[in-house]
Amino acid sequence: MAALAGRHALVTGGGRGIGRAIAAALTASGAAVTVIGRGEAALKDAVATGEAAAYGIADVTDERALSAQIERAALSHGPLDILVANAGGAESAPFLETAPAQFRNMFELNVMGVVHATRAVLAGMMVRRSGRVVAIASTAGIRGYAYVSAYCAAKHAVVGLVRSLAIETAKTGVTVNAVCPGYTDTEMMQESVARIVAKTGRSPAEAVTAILKDSPLDRFIQPREVAAAVLYLCSPAAAAVTGTTLVVAGGEA
Ligand code: NDP
Repeated sequence: MAALAGRHALVTGGGRGIGRAIAAALTASGAAVTVIGRGEAALKDAVATGEAAAYGIADVTDERALSAQIERAALSHGPLDILVANAGGAESAPFLETAPAQFRNMFELNVMGVVHATRAVLAGMMVRRSGRVVAIASTAGIRGYAYVSAYCAAKHAVVGLVRSLAIETAKTGVTVNAVCPGYTDTEMMQESVARIVAKTGRSPAEAVTAILKDSPLDRFIQPREVAAAVLYLCSPAAAAVTGTTLVVAGGEA
């Protein structure tokens, strides 16, 4: 099936983890996919395996570098029809041990990264009266968790941004949505397990049990399951779906 044939999609953080699965799913649906990130090896590998058509190197917190890469991508594969603002990351610490600078870092990466990418593509989408913007937020964008207040606050901001922008663009042919994954099996999750092991002396298996204790599904979400939700939001069938948070969390939130 090539529902997205002729479309150009950009996935930030598309070299690994959830972003890589999204790039692969969009490519399998016929889109030409450009992946953006900082680490060249993973991005290059996504192109080598055919999961992406092209890559660009940029830090999403650097607006100028990111927009330059997005312009370059548009010159090679045409204007952007789809943006998946996926790049993000989490830091954990009790609130009183979270310095203001860590809050700023979490906002720069998780919020401003989405803002910069969206600013680079939205005007063109509105002129062409067609576009899809999907931000990868988190269940941390719709509920609280202890010891990740900066990440949670940033992801809530992403959901607020999406809801606002959806209203602002509703009559323009552009949809703006968030996908909110629960605990997903990626390097980011492996780092969380390692942090718990280091801090508490628990075994990795005990750390996984502790993480999953509130998850009715009792297993990690797979990146391809998040990608399937993104694919739906990018499909022609989802033209009337905007401003929503599609939660992929096995009943946790
Ligand atoms: P990973 O750590 O596995 O991958 C993160 C991706 O983002 C990498 O491709 C990385 O590439 C890129 N990235 C990170 N920082 C930057 C930056 N400053 N500039 C450009 N690219 C960057 O994470 P996941 O795949 O797990 O997470 C993807 C998204 O999903 C994030 O927004 C995360 O918050 C969200 N999420 C993850 C969950 C989970 O349990 N895993 C749950 C809910 C949401 P590189 O390092 O090469 O730049």
